[in-house]
Amino acid sequence: MTIFDVHCHVYPDAIAKRAADSIGEFYQLNMHMSGTLSDLLSRGQAAGISRFVINSAAVTASRVHSINDFLIQAAASDPEHLVGFGTMHPDYENIGGELDRIRQNGLHGVKLHPDFQHFCLDDSKAIAMFEALAERGLPALIHTGDHRYPYSEPARMAKVLDKVPDLQVICAHLGGWSVWTEAWKELAGRPGVWVDTSSSLYAITPEEGADIIHRYGVDRVFFGTDYPMWAPDDELKRFMALPLTDEEREKILHANLEQFLASLK
Ligand SMILES: [Zn+2]
Repeated sequence: MTIFDVHCHVYPDAIAKRAADSIGEFYQLNMHMSGTLSDLLSRGQAAGISRFVINSAAVTASRVHSINDFLIQAAASDPEHLVGFGTMHPDYENIGGELDRIRQNGLHGVKLHPDFQHFCLDDSKAIAMFEALAERGLPALIHTGDHRYPYSEPARMAKVLDKVPDLQVICAHLGGWSVWTEAWKELAGRPGVWVDTSSSLYAITPEEGADIIHRYGVDRVFFGTDYPMWAPDDELKRFMALPLTDEEREKILHANLEQFLASLK
């Protein structure tokens, strides 16, 4: 079976270790994978994963352009296996121009991480950024939820979707890391919402995982590992332990994401 991972972070070789270590610190995790494209491909393919959405989030607006350049180049280096998402920041000066540029250069959306990027999802500048995304039919893969910070609260995501109804978002970590129940209560059933399974299944029981997936609807869920936070084979094992039918697994492991990407303008 094709397995398609919607959530993989990659960094230029020269800074990968530093970038991965700083994420590890934020989540108090020991990062033992390098975060390079070659490491992702070798570990992922060894686990049976054949396609990967690669991304990275710019901590500051000044880094947006160079990170997007890196992702454009990385995704183009292996189009058979890689789909690229760029990044954006609400403080970026010419949001529309940069979104047009990344789209013309083959990227399919952007990755945002409000807790690293220090903006609240429903800030007025962020709303303007989401409007620019929606106008272009570009989806955002967004880190949502962290019980320690207010930035990416699911309730704020819900407010954004009320204000920008055409926006398509993939809310990572089953809609809200560490706040899973609050997340599905706010976000399940909304037409612009998809979620991924990354960085969640280690913290909840397989029954809870399947229950949350069913709250969103099996058609609304993508498999993701959040590499290099987690090893692809470990995340895949956690996913396969969920009490789901083969048909449900097939959808989440690749069919939903293929359909989603094909539907983008
Ligand atoms: Zn992420």
